[in-house]
Amino acid sequence: KRFEEGFARFVHTPYSVSCSNGTTALHLAILALEISEGDEVIVPDLTFAASANAVIHAGADPVFVDVSPEHWTIDPAKIEAAITPKTKAIMPVHLYGHPCDMDPIMEIARKHKLFVIEDCAESIGAQYNGLATGSIGHIGCFSFFSNKVLTTGEGGMCVTADRDIAQKMQQLRDHGMSRNKRYWHEIVGYNYRITNLQAAIGVAQLEQLELFLANRRIIAKRYSEELRNIPGVGLPPEMSWAKNIYWLYAVILDEEQAGISKDALMKSLEREGIETRPFFYPLHVQPCYKGHNQESYPVTERLSRFGFNLPTSNDTTLEEITRVCEALRRII
Ligand SMILES: *Cc1c(COP(=O)(O)O)cnc(C)c1O
Repeated sequence: KRFEEGFARFVHTPYSVSCSNGTTALHLAILALEISEGDEVIVPDLTFAASANAVIHAGADPVFVDVSPEHWTIDPAKIEAAITPKTKAIMPVHLYGHPCDMDPIMEIARKHKLFVIEDCAESIGAQYNGLATGSIGHIGCFSFFSNKVLTTGEGGMCVTADRDIAQKMQQLRDHGMSRNKRYWHEIVGYNYRITNLQAAIGVAQLEQLELFLANRRIIAKRYSEELRNIPGVGLPPEMSWAKNIYWLYAVILDEEQAGISKDALMKSLEREGIETRPFFYPLHVQPCYKGHNQESYPVTERLSRFGFNLPTSNDTTLEEITRVCEALRRII
């Protein structure tokens, strides 16, 4: 209760429902909105697989939409073309800590009577026009896996302003048990609970969250200063309406300008003991989602091909950043 209440205060939402991880948070959200077989949910092509998996776990189909070249998150201008009579929801994913362009997404959702489920696994504390990600759509879903900004090892949270939806998610999380009658089950539920032990860690993490977020901004600022003059290294976006929390500091390599391929550059860095991560592969090319692709996804394909993440954590030091950037400059 303390973790849930503290979290709801942080995101400025009336209700929060804790759960076992970020994927179960998304699954609970989809189930609570009664999205099931025969329904479609719009998901960006550039995201971690769990966004699409949660839709499929509920029996529904993800429909992939390309992302924007400006901010790398779902392109609102391409959403309407993907809407069909089966569409029930849009799932914007705030990628690598940068929020989606929520106003046009909410406008499209209102016009077509769709729900909006925000995947905030990578965006705790990020803001869209001053509003916390997770507080804008019908439900916001967070992950507290060990690589996320706030962690409980494994853990998740759904936030919403709708009391009925919150109660539905609580019931689904706790074996579908009636809230008023013990051992009485009107629906088949799940065991998606977080443990008290994890929640206790979450409470302690919440006390430090502002510090974590401030560190992320300092880390990103230093990376951007040091990388600005290295040829071929494109810096991560921060739109005028956005507060990016830089879950992972992300760069796009112009291989021609840099005179080296992304793979070769990542390998050279690895030889110096510097770990980097490639961007996610487009979901539409993955074997497990065959049949879900719409048409073409040129922006996702380009970002996925040339994008990679530099070392970023709550306690990355400025010395470490300097070492990474010196290596990058030397190799390029
Ligand atoms: C981490 C992540 C998830 C899944 O969270 P888990 O806690 O690992 O289940 C979902 N979506 C995105 C975008 C993520 O980065």
